[in-house]
Amino acid sequence: MNCPECGAPDNLCQVRFDEFLVLEFTEAGYGAVHHLTVAAYMVQHSSKMTREGWEYERDLLRQFLVENKPPARIRKEMKDTVDSGKRTFKFKSKTGVPVINKTTWRKTILDVRAENAEVYCEDVTAWARSVLEEAEELRI
Ligand SMILES: [Zn+2]
Repeated sequence: MNCPECGAPDNLCQVRFDEFLVLEFTEAGYGAVHHLTVAAYMVQHSSKMTREGWEYERDLLRQFLVENKPPARIRKEMKDTVDSGKRTFKFKSKTGVPVINKTTWRKTILDVRAENAEVYCEDVTAWARSVLEEAEELRI
């Protein structure tokens, strides 16, 4: 069965995501794009998110890729918001109902090659860019 959210064959997206997170935390060079991997995956799998959480992840992609904000700064802003109790919404969906009604994408996590850190970072960035473009076309 294909993933009902990103369209990856045999639901391989979840397996690949878990493998990539391990790579990012254990292999030098791979972790540089961790922020993109997580946000792109979450935007494509909106059933894991509340609507506010989904919009937040999409906006993160925009801040990383369009506004070129350094991940460390965004993480700090995020942490400040959470620590001060300013964040008033929940990220994780309890219902499992997708936020967006989209099942085909130009790129999925399966398009990311992982044989070395250089191609990995390049491919994750290309995937994240195409996810952002398509998410913005939805006009949510
Ligand atoms: Zn998927």
